[in-house]
Amino acid sequence: MASKQFTKEEIAKHNRQNDLWIIVDSKVFDLSKFGAMHPGGLSVLLDEEVAGQDATNVFFGLHRYEVLLKPQYARLQIGVVAGEEQQIFPRSVGTLSKVPYAEPTWLTEGYYSPYYKDYHRRFQVAFRKFVEEVLIPDAHAREEDGKRPSQYVFDEMAKLNIIAMRLGPGKHLDGLELMGGLVKPEEFDYFHELIMGQEVARMNARGYYDGSGGGTYIGLPPIMNFGKPAVREKIMREVFSGKKLICLAISEAFAGSDVAGIKCHAKRVDDGWVVTGTTRNGSLTRPLRIISPSLVAMTKVTSYSTTAGTGYVTFENVHVPYENTLGTDNGGLQVILSNFNHERWGMACGSIGAQRFIVEECLKWATQRQVFGKPLTSQAVIRSKLAAMIARVESAQNWIENVTYQMNHMNYKEQATHLAGQIAFVKKYCTENAQETAKDAVQIFGGRGITKTGMGRYIEHYHRTVPFDAILGGAEDVLGDLGVRQALRKMPKNARL
Ligand SMILES: Cc1cc2nc3c(=O)[nH]c(=O)nc-3n(C[C@H](O)[C@H](O)[C@H](O)COP(=O)(O)OP(=O)(O)OC[C@H]3O[C@@H](n4cnc5c(N)ncnc54)[C@H](O)[C@@H]3O)c2cc1C
Repeated sequence: MASKQFTKEEIAKHNRQNDLWIIVDSKVFDLSKFGAMHPGGLSVLLDEEVAGQDATNVFFGLHRYEVLLKPQYARLQIGVVAGEEQQIFPRSVGTLSKVPYAEPTWLTEGYYSPYYKDYHRRFQVAFRKFVEEVLIPDAHAREEDGKRPSQYVFDEMAKLNIIAMRLGPGKHLDGLELMGGLVKPEEFDYFHELIMGQEVARMNARGYYDGSGGGTYIGLPPIMNFGKPAVREKIMREVFSGKKLICLAISEAFAGSDVAGIKCHAKRVDDGWVVTGTTRNGSLTRPLRIISPSLVAMTKVTSYSTTAGTGYVTFENVHVPYENTLGTDNGGLQVILSNFNHERWGMACGSIGAQRFIVEECLKWATQRQVFGKPLTSQAVIRSKLAAMIARVESAQNWIENVTYQMNHMNYKEQATHLAGQIAFVKKYCTENAQETAKDAVQIFGGRGITKTGMGRYIEHYHRTVPFDAILGGAEDVLGDLGVRQALRKMPKNARL
């Protein structure tokens, strides 16, 4: 009985094999039978600091809170320590973290922001709850089994029009009921989208992040902006309803950064075009797919799980009817380039959300891990790494909020004129920061930071998948160069030292 009370003296008597009790945060667990099956071995449980003792610090030095919640371990609780109360509580679903810097300042008590309105705050609460209740459980299960995100997740997202909202503000939201009516389509702005990107990134499942929305994020805008009306309406309906996925295949084995250098080509025929060549894309999930005798897609294995992956697609004289083409004849490059700013800005938002999650993991771990008889935080070198991580995430957040504010006040064309360089820089800044933070996090977690299960599993995942953002949507060096070239074009002719 979990409510039964025991004194510490009574508990201390149960300190041997087959009669083994321990205390974790005021809860008493009977490990008499479990001891021999303990994955970490029996001897650690018979240690004099554990057997019959308050093993809270030892436990949290080795296990995440989730372990206590697993039914097979929760049922080992036989009572509580008389006169003691539970001190350690996991954050409840949908709520904010109290760990410093685990939330951006606009969500931290005592701070202010010029950017966010009440309707952003309401939206953040509802969206975090959705992410934690619907997306995260599926994300972690699919990262394990490598299958594509479950259909019910797409169905749930579709019900609230989350798939449509992920594409940002715009005409495509007109007439839709957003988040069950919580947000009016005319109020939805880039700060809502920033919130979505950062909240979804907190699931720390990078492959799933792409598999559950990355293809739509980059694949649908060209159709929305350049598709012929009938095809556009049909595809938007199918994708927003969660029944179909979409991806964008621009880069190819011959050209990635050099988008204009692609070799895939189309020949004009009476009723359309015939396409031949190869491309890559990021939303394929099965090893090999024959889409049609002339269109074959093959998944390449990447460092993230197969819940998303980059694919190699070959087109052998694939006929594309004219109504399925985008933009004007020979205007393809404009179609391709048009969404790059939005894509890069979105990736920067996600990168910051994920970094913040890692800051929280590191702050918790450095506080609870005892080394040389003291918490890790007592080491100046660890505090210095935490300082660098915090400074990186805070500066990136402030920059992205400024850029987002500009986006709210500019049309697409103005964004391209004024923000392409800023966005290229902010993405480069975020992904460089992210890689530094991943390196520091591994040092703080030690061996656990490179172990796929247990305490450091999120750090291991982050460290393994963090280079994706540094390459996709424009490699760091390419973006830095783009930003500087944009600036140089605007240099006044008469500027001199
Ligand atoms: C998991 C995954 C998913 C992907 N998803 C998609 C997708 O959905 N759609 C799609 O079209 N593509 C996709 N890609 C491809 C991706 O966009 C390219 O990998 C990326 O654009 C870089 O191109 P590249 O790999 O050919 O590198 P390259 O262009 O060969 O460049 C190699 C490196 O050289 C450096 N470099 C290149 N040019 C310059 C320059 N001018 N100045 C300075 N340095 C330079 C950069 O550091 C760069 O990283 C995906 C790739 C992966 C791995």
